[in-house]
Formats: sequence, C-alpha cells, structure tokens
Amino acid sequence: MLVGVPKEIKNHEYRAGLTPESVSELVSRGHSVIVETNAGIGIGAVDDLYMAAGAAIVATAEEVFAHADMIVKVKEPQAVERKMLRPGQILYTYLHLAPDPEQTKDLVESGAVCIAYETVTDASGGLPLLKPMSQVAGRMSIQAGAAALEKAHGGRGVLLGGVPGVSPGKVVIVGGGVVGFNAAQMAVGLHADVTILDRNPVVLERLENHFESSAKVIYSTQAALERLVSEADLVIGAVLIPGAAAPKLVTRKMLGQMQPGSVVVDVAIDQGGCFETSKATTHADPTYVVDDVVHYCVANMPGGVARTSTYALNNVTLQHALAIAGEGWKVALSNNPHLRNGLNVVEGQITYRAVAEDLGYKY
Ligand code: NAD
Repeated sequence: MLVGVPKEIKNHEYRAGLTPESVSELVSRGHSVIVETNAGIGIGAVDDLYMAAGAAIVATAEEVFAHADMIVKVKEPQAVERKMLRPGQILYTYLHLAPDPEQTKDLVESGAVCIAYETVTDASGGLPLLKPMSQVAGRMSIQAGAAALEKAHGGRGVLLGGVPGVSPGKVVIVGGGVVGFNAAQMAVGLHADVTILDRNPVVLERLENHFESSAKVIYSTQAALERLVSEADLVIGAVLIPGAAAPKLVTRKMLGQMQPGSVVVDVAIDQGGCFETSKATTHADPTYVVDDVVHYCVANMPGGVARTSTYALNNVTLQHALAIAGEGWKVALSNNPHLRNGLNVVEGQITYRAVAEDLGYKY
C-alpha cells in the first residue's frame, strides 16, 4: 500500500502522523510511504531522517492526497484537506466528529474511509489511542503548575518539593483516571504533598494500592473538595464523565478561599473544564488570573510537547496502520472488532452510532 503523511496544518499543531521509525516499519513490510516536506520538522525529524527510513519526500500536500491509498495524520482534516480526499481513500487520524457537523458532512461527501483514533477500543473497554495523550497531559500538568507557582509567572512562590526544613507544596488532583494518575506520579516524584480525589471505588482502590503512603486518596464529596481546595497550592482538574461536559466541581466561591498566587490547571478544559472560572487558553498565552488564582487551561496540552506526543501516539497507532496497510481496511477491520469501532465514515455512510445520532444521519 502507498501510505501518505501530509504536514499538519492546524494552528500550532507540530505533531506528525508517522515518525521516521514508523515509516521504516511500514517500508520493511513492503509498503511505500510518501511524506510532505517538513512534515516532521516540529518534532525534530527532518526530511533526511524520513528518507533514510525509506520514505519519498514530496513538495506538497496535494501530491500526498493525490497518490496515497491511506493518509495518516494527527488532527482532523481541515477544510482544504477534506477537499482533497478521494472515494475509497483511507483516512486514519483523530476526527472528533460529534461536535463538528461541517467536517462530518465533508467526510461523508468525500466517499473516503475514515477511521478515528479516538473511538478505537481495547479489550478492557478503554480508548487506547486517546490514553497516551491523557498520560502526556497528566504529566505535563504538574510541570505547568510548578512553573505557574513561580513569582515571575504570577504564582505565590512555592517550590512543590519544598527543601529540607520547609514544607512541600500541596497538590490536589480532582479525578484519578489516566490524567490524574499520571499527574500524581509526577507530583509524588517531586516530593510534593499529594491528595487525589475520585468517586469510583475501583479507581480509589487502584490509586491507594499504587501510591500507598506517598499520596492521600480521598472520596470526592463537595465538603472534601471545599476543604482540600482551600488549602492547596496547586489544584489539577482531571475529571471525566464520558460523553458529557465536565462537571463544574470547583466553584468561584471555593476559589476565593485559596491563597493569592495559588494555581489551578484545568486539564478537563477540552470538555468545558471543571472549575467555574475556566476558559480555554493556548500555549502562546496559557494563563490568566481570576480572584488572585492563576489559571492554566490549555486545551491541547500534548501539542506543547509535540515530539514526546508524536512518539507516544505512534506507539499505539502503528500496529493498526500496519494491519490496514497489510490486509486492506476491510479485512483488518473484520479481523479486529476494536479497530472496527474506529470506523466513523465509510464511502458516504456514517458507521458510528453516536456521531450519526448526534448529527441526525441515518445509521
Ligand atoms: P479518565 O476517564 O481516565 O478519568 C476521569 C476520572 O474522573 C475517573 O476516574 C472518574 O471516576 C473521575 N471522576 C468523575 N467524576 C468525578 C468527581 N465528581 N470527582 C472526582 N472524580 C471524578 O479520563 P482522563 O483520560 O484522565 O481524562 C480526564 C480529562 O482530561 C478529560 O476531560 C480529557 O478529555 C482531558 N484531557 C485533556 C487534555 C488537554 O490537552 N487539555 C489532554 C488529554 C485529556
């Protein structure tokens, strides 16, 4: 199969669909890969590295879309890219169609076979192609919070790990799923004073067993949250209620109880955020202050560490790209029901129930 990687064109998107190492895996199995020039520049993978891996470099996205049997990307195709899709061409990338009627319409009309990373499942019911981005955001949330706590960034001047003779900073993590777990790992590693709240007993037990005495694990009630937030230097918002907007767990009134210069990092901002005062920000201008509390609410945190994120993403997407390229999409999907769950649009039909129902298409 001829696999194509266009350069990402969404604003501030530096990740790439395939790393040179992934290209080499495809080429070693007899496939051909074309990569748009500079597609990997944002992750430090220059054209020479792709060529050394066996790819051919082409000058434009038009050439990639015109020739490739399968397009491998990161972000949903932008309007100009959607116009270049062909009937029967495979598109393998994040799509997030439910809130995006325009994109959905264009993909239906394109006749392409669109496989969305975010709806591919695994045997335990998880979303394995989303998980690495939550891992990245969770780990990054502590870095971002630690930096925001510095005086020069508006923070109260607290070092999360403290030093001998001075207490560490207090970190409260609301939601102990993938983001929360990874945030806790980083905060514990920095020797901060860490508390994690969740409501799911299975999650609470897993956290307790993992962190033992290095972090406190608390059932998430409004009263517990109020007390812990008022004492925290750094609060991480990491809740998710699947398919719903994030609940506004931390009210503006609760924020008023925090010390001036405290920091909140709302990782759940891509679902609307779990602080009443959250609004989405960008890497170019990541923080703002409400009631003396510094807010970091970047909606695409993994984009800030594009190199790590691209490698983490390829670690989970490559196996399916190899299967699709090797067997063809029909066989690959019928052999793997979890990959089958990734199929959102095929040759003019919506094949993912939630998208069809949300946007009023026949399923
Ligand atoms: P997850 O499902 O693994 O974890 C969410 C946790 O929240 C679950 O353990 C759940 O029990 C818990 N929860 C639900 N209601 C709660 C409550 N009232 N109090 C305490 N805990 C509660 O989800 P995840 O992968 O960790 O993702 C968390 C959020 O981060 C999602 O909104 C996700 O979209 C977002 N995210 C954002 C970025 C970004 O760049 N900003 C990147 C990745 C993920």
